[in-house]
Amino acid sequence: MYKVIIDGQCGCIRRANMALESNFSDRDDALIAASNLAQRMNDDFCGKHQFGVRQEGENLLVTIEMRG
Ligand SMILES: [Zn+2]
Repeated sequence: MYKVIIDGQCGCIRRANMALESNFSDRDDALIAASNLAQRMNDDFCGKHQFGVRQEGENLLVTIEMRG
């Protein structure tokens, strides 16, 4: 089981009411979902944060950093 976890709590995530964790049985599916998620968050959110994907064992963390 692979997990995509949103790591870090920007106010945008709370406002968007997103699920912070989702499970996938396939690693590639999880990887694609995580990158799509990070991409969408970079496009849609406040722009103050930069989202990326980091792999940690079987988990894929969607990470958050302040921009600039
Ligand atoms: Zn934000």
